[in-house]
Amino acid sequence: MSPVVENVDVVVVGGGPGGSTVSTLLAMRGHSVVLLEKEKFPRYQIGESLLPSTVHGIGRLLGVTEELEKAAFTVKRGGSFRWGTNPVPWNFLFAVAPELTGPTSYAYQVERMKFDEILLRNAAAKGVDVREESAVTEVIGDDERVRGVRYTGPDGTPREVRATFVVDASGNRSRIHQNVRGERIYSDFFKNIAIFGYFEGGKRLPAPDSGNILCAAFDEGWIWYIPLSDTLTSVGAVISREHAAKLQGDQERALRGFIDRCEIVKGFLSDATRVTEGTYGEIRTRKDYSYTNSSFHRPGMVLVGDAACFIDPVFSTGVHLSTYAGLLAARSINSVLAGDLGEDRAFAEFEGRYRREFRVFYEFLSAFYDMQSNEDSYFWKARKVTNFGATDLEAFVSLVGGVHSGEQAFTNADALVEEFQKSSAGLADAVERTGSMQTESGERMHHLFGTPVVREVMTEMNNIQVRGVRGEDAFEAPLLEGGLVPSPDGLAWTEEVK
Ligand code: FAD
Repeated sequence: MSPVVENVDVVVVGGGPGGSTVSTLLAMRGHSVVLLEKEKFPRYQIGESLLPSTVHGIGRLLGVTEELEKAAFTVKRGGSFRWGTNPVPWNFLFAVAPELTGPTSYAYQVERMKFDEILLRNAAAKGVDVREESAVTEVIGDDERVRGVRYTGPDGTPREVRATFVVDASGNRSRIHQNVRGERIYSDFFKNIAIFGYFEGGKRLPAPDSGNILCAAFDEGWIWYIPLSDTLTSVGAVISREHAAKLQGDQERALRGFIDRCEIVKGFLSDATRVTEGTYGEIRTRKDYSYTNSSFHRPGMVLVGDAACFIDPVFSTGVHLSTYAGLLAARSINSVLAGDLGEDRAFAEFEGRYRREFRVFYEFLSAFYDMQSNEDSYFWKARKVTNFGATDLEAFVSLVGGVHSGEQAFTNADALVEEFQKSSAGLADAVERTGSMQTESGERMHHLFGTPVVREVMTEMNNIQVRGVRGEDAFEAPLLEGGLVPSPDGLAWTEEVK
């Protein structure tokens, strides 16, 4: 049967946060956009703890602020960490970062089924042609460029959409990204596996931290504890991939075993019951989720979100990176379709900014893992930054363009501490200096939050929020040398006016 063929400006594969963001911001500039999603929404997804830039920056650009408020998600004012040598958790608060005070000093913990559906329905309301139960089977193109996709709709008819651009936002497990002809490089450092489930009736941190994510280190890894509602909690253990065999048999027992070895989480769940029915009734595992592709773009095609890269769940960066990439990709495509920029220039800006954001998070998270000192534990010893040097890791670090992580400062512990000590206070104030920080590891953590790399992470996230809040009045200098700046409406790129 020959396929039904149609022509549009852009076809987006995947209706997660990355796909919904890019498609909405393209439709808002009047382009014809088809979004193909293989599932029927709402569908399950992990990645429930958000950052303020997604809620207040991207959310405002997309026009979903009020809907997110109405959904009454748990308000997250930061993260609480049982990390380092002290048994008492300490807090990282969003409120102290510049530009994040007042109404934008929080994020949400979300049930992704609800959050992703809000973004997808909003895309449709803004003019995107959203087609669910439509799985892309093939990318079409030639040596010069990608020219569209083939997919099968709910009625089983083979269809073809020809487009000037194909955006791959199809997540971690799809193989569509291979059409950019790059290589997927896995991180050796974050070579972890996650096992997770849901509990009813878990305890909460005392107010005002009751909505915080709690991350608690234990000998074999660390556990996340995310309050999704007053009673529902998402709980997952991140352990070394070498322990994969332990997860083969009884997964309930495996998850319980990790919880029992993590005092604080064990206590919080002492009166709770695991959800055993419905979407949240399953215990799930995920592995091989920390990687980056060697290329994010080829003529006619661009990768966004997990299709391009992901690091590690410890600081809730996944949805931020995917929606940020959605914004960058939309700006590049809008600029090319308007005839304002050539594809090379527009996508150099996309890839430069996206890799930079990924790189600074990668470095920050590597240093953050290093703060948990437990020389007796295989998991933590294997993740000391002083272990940098394994061949795969070197390839990964050089690809993301690591500065701190791959170089001297992180290759011996003394230099690392010195680097932290000489750095200015910066965001260090975002860490509440409670009694738990008055330890050697607490001090090191405090310094970590004052390093230039953390300031870099925050700078761009702040820019996005300022853009969301101030709209056309937001001022942004180029982020990359000789680079572009956002247009006044924030939806495209323009040359800097000097
Ligand atoms: P996705 O959300 O995966 O969406 C991709 C969509 O594409 C899906 O709906 C899928 O059905 C669709 N699709 C796939 N193939 C096709 C096809 N062939 N045709 C059509 N459609 C297709 N992030 C956070 O921000 N906070 C967290 O707390 C957090 N915790 C995490 C914990 C773990 C263990 C892991 C592994 C990740 C975590 N993440 C977290 C990361 C987060 O899950 C992802 O980064 C985020 O979901 C990426 O969004 P996306 O839009 O790129 O992809």
